[in-house]
Amino acid sequence: DEDAALLGDWDVDDDLEPDVPVPPVLAIVGRPNVGKSTLVNRIIGRREAVVEDVPGVTRDRVSYEAEWNGRTFTVVDTGGWEHDAKGIHRRVAEQAELAVDVADAVVFVVDSTVGMTSTDEAVVTMLRRKDRPVIVAANKVDDMVQEAEAASLWSLGFGYPHPVSAVHGRGVADLLDAALEALPEESAHGGLVPRGGPRRIALVGRPNVGKSSLLNKLAGSDRVVVDDLAGTTRDPVDELIELGGRLWRFVDTAGIRRRQHMAHGADYYASLRTASALDRAEVAVVLLEAPSVISEQDVRILQMALESGRALVVAFNKWDKVDEDRREQLEKEIDRDLAHVAWAPRVNISALTGWHKDRLVPALDTALDSWETRIPTGKLNAFLGELVAAHPHPLRGGKQPRILFATQASVRPPKFVLFTTGFLDPGYRRFITRRLRETFGFEGTPIEIGMRVRE
Ligand code: GDP
Ligand code: GDP
Repeated sequence: DEDAALLGDWDVDDDLEPDVPVPPVLAIVGRPNVGKSTLVNRIIGRREAVVEDVPGVTRDRVSYEAEWNGRTFTVVDTGGWEHDAKGIHRRVAEQAELAVDVADAVVFVVDSTVGMTSTDEAVVTMLRRKDRPVIVAANKVDDMVQEAEAASLWSLGFGYPHPVSAVHGRGVADLLDAALEALPEESAHGGLVPRGGPRRIALVGRPNVGKSSLLNKLAGSDRVVVDDLAGTTRDPVDELIELGGRLWRFVDTAGIRRRQHMAHGADYYASLRTASALDRAEVAVVLLEAPSVISEQDVRILQMALESGRALVVAFNKWDKVDEDRREQLEKEIDRDLAHVAWAPRVNISALTGWHKDRLVPALDTALDSWETRIPTGKLNAFLGELVAAHPHPLRGGKQPRILFATQASVRPPKFVLFTTGFLDPGYRRFITRRLRETFGFEGTPIEIGMRVRE
């Protein structure tokens, strides 16, 4: 009918995703430069991950969907994250451990042209403590002659060292056969990794609000990636952090560090970073500082987060610096200053002491759930019908714009489209928005209302 025709190309889909089993997870681990990302590229059959000839160059990727012999699985790649020279063995092993914990089987990649190094040994020690099946890939065996070198890796005790050449694809099929054999049908450990990969968080805020401190506190150790080459343009580095039993991905954490090194134009780069982090994130945590007044820069960053359309959590840091007797007053001031984002979950924390850091996950979950909420068309129109009956649009020049019906056009964030017979006053639209929130929640997500006016 006519109304349906008006819908045009809007994609109205009220069906919820069926609950599908989580595919098993294969972790690719090894020290930097052994060829992990080259191998991952081979496995996923794409040229997406960038491989560079510089040892330890940063790359941005963590997990991929892959398929082999008709079976789907997830590849988790620890990536060539950048490390400072000090404590590199421990850090490589630590990051590998994170991937191993979520995996059902592990491919341990060794550079057969180099043999075992002490960093490799650190990874092996970690792998021995775990009960995951390990498949050894002796990489860079580009021809028959080099196969003999791979054989020495038998001594690791992880079984047959598969000679492969990630660059040429040699031996990769056999390696994958072995990996698939080791993988269960469904993931046993993948519960840590939500379907669709870890949630992506942008931690934003003006310099010195405590972003790095919070990251360190959340990671449980000084796992923040260090970038010593300040000012060079490179891919952002993300960090995986386990919170509340799941992995989360903090995007562009290197940018947090990098900005601090820069004396000039720090403001400009800080806002560039904020923009790009928001762009890649699903949810923004805007960090503010409790004891001080909200600055112009805070407001600007908050505004950027709002305009990005991401889910939003507001975190007030440094509560340890707030005197007991000033807390109540401060809460009131904050309520007043942030009235326009009263819908965002707010958490008071101390990155220094770790106080309330466990409140972050529930807030993130709330915000992300809201961000992905879809109101069925029937329910939405029943709600609007009642609302309009009780509070009709004010008369304008003897006419009254009517809402014919509404639909939710998209999620992430929720966007609604009202089909009307005339333009609705902005005040009336705000009223509808407010009622939508009162009725359906949407805590932690911006919502948008668009109009389609029938002439
Ligand atoms: P990652 O740091 O472990 O992810 O290692 P990369 O995938 O970035 O590879 C490091 C270097 O080794 C790059 O220069 C690759 O081109 C090279 N490389 C990777 N696989 C092979 C291989 O099978 N044979 C040879 N000759 N070089 C390889
Ligand atoms: P960033 O620039 O946002 O990454 O901020 P940093 O994490 O580098 O923190 C800036 C300063 O604030 C450092 O001196 C931190 O020790 C301090 N700081 C961070 N969080 C807290 C906190 O919760 N309480 C107190 N008292 N100081 C903090």
